[in-house]
Amino acid sequence: MKAVVYRGPHQVTIENVPDPKIERPTDAIVRITSTNICGSDLHMYEGRTDFEQGRIFGHENLGVVQEVGPAVERIKPGDRVCLPFNISCGHCVNCERGLTAFCLSANQPGIAGGAFGFADMGPWPGGQAEYLRVPWADFMSLKLPPDAQQKQTDYVMCADIFPTGWHATELAGLRPGDAVVIYGSGPVGLMAAHSAMIKGARSVMVVDCHPDRLKLAESIGAIAIDYSKEDPVQRVMDLTQGMGADVGCECVGYQCHDPAPQRHENPNLTMNNLVSSVKFTGGIGVVGVFIPEDPGA
Ligand SMILES: [Zn+2]
Ligand SMILES: [Zn+2]
Repeated sequence: MKAVVYRGPHQVTIENVPDPKIERPTDAIVRITSTNICGSDLHMYEGRTDFEQGRIFGHENLGVVQEVGPAVERIKPGDRVCLPFNISCGHCVNCERGLTAFCLSANQPGIAGGAFGFADMGPWPGGQAEYLRVPWADFMSLKLPPDAQQKQTDYVMCADIFPTGWHATELAGLRPGDAVVIYGSGPVGLMAAHSAMIKGARSVMVVDCHPDRLKLAESIGAIAIDYSKEDPVQRVMDLTQGMGADVGCECVGYQCHDPAPQRHENPNLTMNNLVSSVKFTGGIGVVGVFIPEDPGA
């Protein structure tokens, strides 16, 4: 089959690789019909991780079940399934508690958590390929309704971006009627804003500096705040009678750019502003990536 293969920083090729096979009774093989390039892929593409050469990218995957192992019961060939980016077994002590991102079966012993096509997240190939081996397929597969066969484009991919945005609002403890501020209006920030609206937020304020992204935020009903033109904390205060937002979400991470004086990276900017924008009794949800030091900087 053809797959997107990492060959070193800024070097990605499409290569012929062996087709994946059923290796365990609980595996399925999925024929990929949709897959995304994630911002997280750029960490590997740009060489900021120890992603091994020869590995296949792609952790956001949707497709049609091609073949199942003898122990798979909930899905069958022909079913359309969406797959979460993280790999989990469903039966270890962490999965049993719902902490599937810390699955104890999906990585080397002693390391919690696995993912498709990702540095340090286990040996699993990604889905930017024609076929994907899905371990623990019964637990992993989100089976789409039968009409998904016909309406192939009418389903949002619940693999990473939408669930991650939703998760930010869960971590923040968002309740109906809350005023929420979201730092970042990339795909995850926009999905956090959308999630906040679904959950009945009173107002959704979105902070970014890219006009095109802020326009998208406005188009779904959010209040856009351009932090390169005004102090976002002050604007949030003005919009909340000086109280601050009830809850806030951080959807940027350590690669945030400071608008002044030369748009240098300022890893603490969004976190500091977020904390200052939310009332003392409020909650914050952080899904942006923060690391002690950027080895590529
Ligand atoms: Zn992703
Ligand atoms: Zn597990």
